[in-house]
Amino acid sequence: MSYAALQFRSPRASTDYVAAKCMILMEKRIARDGLDHILDAVDGQYLVVAGGEMAKVRTTSHKGPNPGGARRSNPRVVVVGGGVMGSALAYWLTRLEPSVGVTVVERDSSYEHASSALSAASIRQQFSTAVNIRISQASIAFLRQAADELAVDDERPDIQLREHGYLYLAGAEGAAQLRQAHAMQIACAADVALMDRAALENRFGWLNTSDLSLGSLGLRGEGWFDGYALLTAFARKARRQGARYANAEVCGLTVDANRVTEVILSDGAHIGCTHVVNAAGPWARRIAAMAGVELPVFARRRTVYVISCPAAMTSFPLIIDPTGFWIRPEGAKFIAGFSPADDGDDQPLQPDYDEFERWLWPALAHRIPAFEEARLERAWAGYFEMNTFDHNAILGPHESLDNLLFMNGFSGHGMQQAPVVGRAIAELILHGRFDALDVSDLLFARIAQNRPLHEAMVIG
Ligand SMILES: Cc1cc2nc3c(=O)[nH]c(=O)nc-3n(C[C@H](O)[C@H](O)[C@H](O)COP(=O)(O)OP(=O)(O)OC[C@H]3O[C@@H](n4cnc5c(N)ncnc54)[C@H](O)[C@@H]3O)c2cc1C
Repeated sequence: MSYAALQFRSPRASTDYVAAKCMILMEKRIARDGLDHILDAVDGQYLVVAGGEMAKVRTTSHKGPNPGGARRSNPRVVVVGGGVMGSALAYWLTRLEPSVGVTVVERDSSYEHASSALSAASIRQQFSTAVNIRISQASIAFLRQAADELAVDDERPDIQLREHGYLYLAGAEGAAQLRQAHAMQIACAADVALMDRAALENRFGWLNTSDLSLGSLGLRGEGWFDGYALLTAFARKARRQGARYANAEVCGLTVDANRVTEVILSDGAHIGCTHVVNAAGPWARRIAAMAGVELPVFARRRTVYVISCPAAMTSFPLIIDPTGFWIRPEGAKFIAGFSPADDGDDQPLQPDYDEFERWLWPALAHRIPAFEEARLERAWAGYFEMNTFDHNAILGPHESLDNLLFMNGFSGHGMQQAPVVGRAIAELILHGRFDALDVSDLLFARIAQNRPLHEAMVIG
């Protein structure tokens, strides 16, 4: 059966009906282990067309690109980069197939510049495409169970998950787009509510709503966590399950016809492999170039500002302002950021303090007048691994190479996708298809076919 043939909808299914049915299914299955209960709940037998786009039905018979050819009995996988992506993959590979050989090559075990260690590590259901919404639904299910899933002996990692929601705000121009994305979220059974200006004023008395028309608040499944704790928990568990971490730098790949046969390290060592996975984050383009592949992923600096504010403000979610800044609580303080106008590649990882005074502080004080009294405490900078083609993940093999797989280009939403993407790439390697969640909308092939995935809710 073709994949397209698996798309269908119930003509009688209203958005509300489908959402309600999916919620019941989710509640029933919430006690089950791993990702599957949420995935089962959201695929259902019903589909709703929202915003002119059709969500897809997950199917365990979905055929992926089968990298590396037919299933191999003893895969030997080399993962380049041991950040949250590489470590999530190593975890899933060794969990799904304990006999698999996995070597994660990481050049900096302190993760000083890794995005995973510098991330704001927030998760939202509020995307505009079904694939991104479903990834987040599955991810939040995993994060809630991370202490059990990733425990090593009696050491249970605490990733400090806080589900305090995202609040997207829109003025008159942005309201239609927010409504359109909301329809898709509801179709996918995300728990998100639209709020008019009066409702915003009522719930968030500290917000200046004078130029707002609409807000969209995530009621469940959104918030933030400790990204570094998640990374180290994945890595520790992957090691316990048999993955090997090598502290070395990858400086070359040996390509023979349409396969990568070896990974070459800077100390001259060569590692033979059946599969290589590029999990090099903002440096992924360089790894791709070693195999002659052009990858549209660029390192774009983002500054995170740590701010204190003397005023007490209750029920503070992660706010996305129409001007583009985001802000959320972090302990007793706040962290905030935005996409700079001058967005060059590979800028040194020094925070841009000038932009706080010049742009962010006035914008913050406009939206939340109490922030006139705010103080900048400190700041740090990390790289978004920006996919300039369409700002979404680039997954799976490149058409010219069977066994080189990519998990790159997350453009600011990679931390929250790691638990699910790690599993998806592991399934591709082990089974040649996506089993738990069909993420084929994110395959590398879309670039060659010039089919960008339009995601309206990118926080660039
Ligand atoms: C400031 C900031 C805020 C963010 N906020 C969020 C958020 O709120 N929510 C969200 O979901 N995402 C967020 N992100 C994005 C998210 O953090 C990233 O998408 C994610 O961490 C990417 O993980 P990674 O493992 O691919 O990359 P990284 O964590 O960068 O890991 C890549 C690793 O590869 C290694 N490496 C590179 N080249 C080589 C080589 N040649 N040899 C050996 N090792 C190599 C590096 O040392 C590095 O450790 C944010 C990112 C930043 C910077």
